[in-house]
Amino acid sequence: MSILQRIREIFYPRNLTCSVCKRENFSLSSVCDECMAKLPFNDKSICGNCGRATAYSTEYCDYCKNRQTSVDFSRSAFEYADAVKNLVRRFKYDGEKYLAEFFVEMLKPVFLKHIGYADAIVFVPSTKRKIRQRGYNQGEILAKEFSSFCKIPVVKVLEKVKETESQVGLNLKERMKNLKGSFKVTERSQVKGKRLLLIDDVLTTGSTVETVAEQLKKAGAREVIVLTVASVSFSRFNGE
Ligand SMILES: [Zn+2]
Ligand SMILES: [Zn+2]
Repeated sequence: MSILQRIREIFYPRNLTCSVCKRENFSLSSVCDECMAKLPFNDKSICGNCGRATAYSTEYCDYCKNRQTSVDFSRSAFEYADAVKNLVRRFKYDGEKYLAEFFVEMLKPVFLKHIGYADAIVFVPSTKRKIRQRGYNQGEILAKEFSSFCKIPVVKVLEKVKETESQVGLNLKERMKNLKGSFKVTERSQVKGKRLLLIDDVLTTGSTVETVAEQLKKAGAREVIVLTVASVSFSRFNGE
């Protein structure tokens, strides 16, 4: 964080400015009412399986039909579009960890409506090198923030054992191949027979959560449900 940013934080505490437009904010949320009304909430028709926005409500969208999956179902608060893209980028790459508070605020109603309960929360682990580079694992921050709201414990049961190549430009099959052998369950006893909530920032192709869920199921997890801040909507998503 630059000195200028630090000074700004001291004089303009984040609770008094909107996280999206940075103007003065008098709402109870960290996003002002005006910006809130414009955010792409994923609360219209969705796929019952992957939870992505679809043209009409369906149990399995075209992407999910005939697809083997280890994830029981997924839900997300937003479509990955407009201001949400920017918020996620700031949270992930610009060190604006405080955004977790707002994201969790938005995830609460989705959890209560669609998921209800879980035995434990898990997140996608990063390699030690990645954490050293970035300073934190955004999934872990979200998981911990969510845990303090719902009182479901976060369990560290996974390890990323292999650094993966960039996934950009790869289709789902290639991504899955790329990720093969990257994650390992280290604490099987914490996983066996459990209904696990896997929290992450964005659901794009789903290859990462799919790979993690596969390992969790192999280790005996009863259910793996994915909850993300945003998901790439089906209309924007061609399966690549
Ligand atoms: Zn605003
Ligand atoms: Zn689907």
